[in-house]
Amino acid sequence: MPITQRTDYDVVVVGGGGSGLAAAIAAASEGARTVVLEKADELRGSTGRSVGSIAASATPDQQRLGIDDSADRHLADYRVLSGTLAATENIELAKLLTHNVTDTLAWLRGMGMEFFGPVGEAPHSAPRLHNVLPGSRSYIYHLERKARQLGVTIELGVAGDRLVQNAGRVSGVETCGADGSRVVYSARRAVVLASGDFSASAELKSKWIDDRVARFVPVNPCATGDAQRMAIELGGQVLNAEVFDVPSMRLAPPPSEGLFGLLQRLAPRRYLTAPIRWGMAHLPNWLIRALMMGFVTTYLSPREALFDAGAILVDTAGRLRSDSPENINLVVAGLGEEGGYIIGDRALYRKFSADPCYVATAPGVAFAYMPDFRRSRKDVYAEASTLPELATEIGVPAATLSKSVAAANESLAGGSAPLTEGPFFALGPVRAYLLQTNGGLAVSTDLEVLGADDRPLPGLYAAGNAGQGGLALFGHGHHLGWAFTSGRIAGRNAARSAITPIRAAS
Ligand SMILES: Cc1cc2nc3c(=O)[nH]c(=O)nc-3n(C[C@H](O)[C@H](O)[C@H](O)COP(=O)(O)OP(=O)(O)OC[C@H]3O[C@@H](n4cnc5c(N)ncnc54)[C@H](O)[C@@H]3O)c2cc1C
Repeated sequence: MPITQRTDYDVVVVGGGGSGLAAAIAAASEGARTVVLEKADELRGSTGRSVGSIAASATPDQQRLGIDDSADRHLADYRVLSGTLAATENIELAKLLTHNVTDTLAWLRGMGMEFFGPVGEAPHSAPRLHNVLPGSRSYIYHLERKARQLGVTIELGVAGDRLVQNAGRVSGVETCGADGSRVVYSARRAVVLASGDFSASAELKSKWIDDRVARFVPVNPCATGDAQRMAIELGGQVLNAEVFDVPSMRLAPPPSEGLFGLLQRLAPRRYLTAPIRWGMAHLPNWLIRALMMGFVTTYLSPREALFDAGAILVDTAGRLRSDSPENINLVVAGLGEEGGYIIGDRALYRKFSADPCYVATAPGVAFAYMPDFRRSRKDVYAEASTLPELATEIGVPAATLSKSVAAANESLAGGSAPLTEGPFFALGPVRAYLLQTNGGLAVSTDLEVLGADDRPLPGLYAAGNAGQGGLALFGHGHHLGWAFTSGRIAGRNAARSAITPIRAAS
């Protein structure tokens, strides 16, 4: 098929998730004619699938609550979270995050987003998690709206495939459409790579991590490391390629039909988020949680503490799986797409019905307990007076489930109680998803992609997971903070790059 050329752009952004849309808005705000190329047929990315929390310090929310905090303290806590990676991390990039993320939060608010919090989380020395309302799709909704207002062109179903160079400078992107058509989008100023991580590329996971991780199920099927691959061809380097978030067990997100579906489709504008904010401050906790469980939450993650207290894991054939010495999240990961069920009894239900024994963290709601699932998430919660009845409810062989519970009761470890008294419950199916890999391109503090000898590749920027630059970003709220902050800076700098004359693709 012949290659056609689109020459009307100053800045070409590859990827329409959080970092790409932020970059496009920043570039267009500088007056640059900007296009976003998105491989999927919708704007969402990992950003629109995330929980939605951002860690930031010295925010108006903290000040309202009298919380004394600063970017320097945030940086110090961030470095603790980085653990052994702190030794190799570029501290200037870490500082770029912690010292700019507060402005980023204000920038997002300026587009109409509302946040709840701050919520605390160890080892942060102050409550710093700000959760977007009513959920992470709010990011995509408002960023897309703003981008379109600024005249950004958004092309869906178009995958960046190869970087085009002109006299040693990146001058465009060759793309591949769903029908196999190839188009070169020329960038008079610069290209921003913002296509996320490589958690969905079995090939790259196998090459950079191992074959086992290669089989883990990703959350975002489009996260195939295309930016990393394209930049390596020009001499770019991937840092922390082997670092990945250990898969955590997750329940499916709320169903997209019925009342929950309706709630999820509501535009996340102030008419919706302002009453939610008010409700969270004033309504009884159980009532607001019942509502929020429907449309705030994405992939809730049940805590390992359930198993420490005696819950068991069975697969979809009813076989006991929690008897393995391996970490329970990895056991669930081994069950693949089918997943399994967490089984408990009345005593366990009671125990996990109140503070401090929450079942999962939910954004904004902060903590979700057993009654929240029973009341609001019947799609992932089943209950019955006897084990055979429970087996019928979840569609596993009754005899196998009873045998599994008996086996688990016989081999009890200290501290946990046998599962004896109905009603029994099942939470699931629970699956372990690989949220993300952390290997991103080496970047400068201007978000230029660095080649050999750490010299910038002219005309090429990267942001978000694609431009993670060796940052660990451990702890909740740092990945999104980085996606939007790095996106803003990359987009602005791309728009300010010198103009190069456009020639035919090479
Ligand atoms: C379930 C879950 C919960 C999370 N919760 C949080 C949280 O609460 N707080 C936090 O800080 N972080 C969280 N994260 C991590 C965070 O969501 C990501 O790190 C962040 O969204 C990455 O943004 P991004 O723009 O780099 O990537 P994405 O948002 O994934 O955007 C990349 C986009 O590029 C597109 N793309 C890929 N290849 C191409 C190509 N060749 N051409 C064109 N387009 C392409 C993709 O389709 C995608 O739309 C969570 C992640 C997951 C999966």
